[in-house]
Amino acid sequence: VLMTCPPPDPYLVEQLEKRFTLFKFHSIPDKAQFLNSNKASIRAVVGNASAGADAQLIHQLPNLEIVSSFSVGLDKIDLAKCREKGIRVTNTPDVLTDDVADLAIGLMLAVLRRLCQSDRYVRSGQWKRGDYKLTTKFTGKSVGIIGLGRIGLAIAKRAEAFSCPISYHTRTEKSDVKYKYYPSVVELATNCQILVVACALTEETRHIINREVINALGPKGVLINVGRGPHVDEPELVSALVEGRLGGAGLDVFQDEPNVPEELFGLENVVLLPHVGSGTVETRKEMADLVVGNLEAHFLNKPLLTPVL
Ligand code: NDP
Repeated sequence: VLMTCPPPDPYLVEQLEKRFTLFKFHSIPDKAQFLNSNKASIRAVVGNASAGADAQLIHQLPNLEIVSSFSVGLDKIDLAKCREKGIRVTNTPDVLTDDVADLAIGLMLAVLRRLCQSDRYVRSGQWKRGDYKLTTKFTGKSVGIIGLGRIGLAIAKRAEAFSCPISYHTRTEKSDVKYKYYPSVVELATNCQILVVACALTEETRHIINREVINALGPKGVLINVGRGPHVDEPELVSALVEGRLGGAGLDVFQDEPNVPEELFGLENVVLLPHVGSGTVETRKEMADLVVGNLEAHFLNKPLLTPVL
């Protein structure tokens, strides 16, 4: 098994090492030489949101049978190439949905109620000087969601409990939900106060948040991104925040992680998280069990637990 991402979780590594010969690609200095010597023995790849299996790697692994991703997002895997070569693909859906939705609501509250700023206010002793600035109410704000899949729906359900009117954008209108559908992202942004990105990253959704969408959301609007960094045209987001054309942002993901635009560090209307949507002990264990379970099922010729391909 070749792990292409930096080891994301000690439990996952331990479980893989119990069952397989695990190569940690990230820490191998001469990758070309390593592949030359080991390519024939590698039958599985384990990746995550930071590294998966691109066309070049797939091409270099003649006996690759399965890519088991420690993520629900599939944007780091060349699915077309896998399909063409009959390589199976699995991910970790459902088990992380609650955590990511919880975090999205947490970001909304953190941005509007300035939780991080307020914490700094207490810790720095500013409270004693008593110049606290009032914040913005969350209950009842209209929430627009891009992507109403597992995570988008879980965010909607939670936001409903805060009396937030919900609207959404996906490629096709859902017949089984009562939320208002907008066929255009700009229209959705015009008609909500908090815009959440919770869709899959594909060529179509890259920069789905662009200048026009940001301007439609406006100086009182808040952007929450729990999808992927490249969903957002980051330089446009940074300039809108710096210029006050956008009210605030809560960001779990960035274009070039772990590099975050430093212009954001001085802004109090922005909350920045290190891509931790699924980052709880409980969920990471369930994700690891799925990664390992899928590999075991594959090598025992049993049905995969969570097949994509
Ligand atoms: P689902 O597959 O259940 O939902 C994906 C949604 O994206 C669907 O509603 C789909 O709707 C929508 N979508 C796809 N293409 C488009 C498009 N072109 N325009 C608008 N909407 C589109 O996935 P999950 O809800 O489980 O996960 C969603 C994403 O969340 C993942 O792909 C991943 O990138 C991200 N994520 C982030 C995490 C973090 O740590 N921050 C953790 C886990 C996931 P339709 O097909 O109708 O268009």
